[in-house]
Amino acid sequence: MKTFEELGIAAPLLKAIAELGYEQPMPVQEEVIPYLLGEDIDLIALAQTGTGKTAAFGLPLLQKLNPEGGMPQALVLCPTRELCLQIADDLNSYSKYMNDVHVLPVYGGTPIDAQIRALRRGVQVVVATPGRLLDLMGRNAVSLSGVHTVVLDEADEMLNMGFAEALEEILAGIPSERHLLLFSATMPREISKIAA
Ligand code: AMP
Repeated sequence: MKTFEELGIAAPLLKAIAELGYEQPMPVQEEVIPYLLGEDIDLIALAQTGTGKTAAFGLPLLQKLNPEGGMPQALVLCPTRELCLQIADDLNSYSKYMNDVHVLPVYGGTPIDAQIRALRRGVQVVVATPGRLLDLMGRNAVSLSGVHTVVLDEADEMLNMGFAEALEEILAGIPSERHLLLFSATMPREISKIAA
């Protein structure tokens, strides 16, 4: 089994995850981290909650951010407010020793103004539920023209919740050179369609 260092994770992230008590990579992390740190590729992974998938996509995503840029470079889409907050929390803990990384969760059921102000201050990573993100896009409150990585987390759950059209609309608003990472507990036909 490899260590996080052997998988290519950089020092500031290693320090943060060591403090969180992550000693060994979990299988999905060992599997996908080297790919995501290497060539820019698209990836589909079958992974349930609790398998360590957030760090599997989160660590490479953070490591590949350009610290100079103030526009969103990475977008993580997920089905619920709870998951959105949890992913943003995890990414914030991982990036504790990286300078100037701003991760913003945006989700519905809460006033949009504070989210708009936070976006204006500059964030590199947006973690969003699809409905609220579309709302923000419609108000020109978020620019996705600099996004190079899109993660669909719990993609099957997003489809179950009726977000298929919203996802299509969001993906249509992102440069076509973006890389897509799709995590799903199951692989129904609609998921293969999005992947295709
Ligand atoms: P997730 O599937 O991303 O929700 O992660 C499940 C749980 O495992 C979370 O509480 C993570 O903090 C934890 N975790 C992720 N990777 C590791 C690791 N390599 N070692 C120990 N715990 C981990």
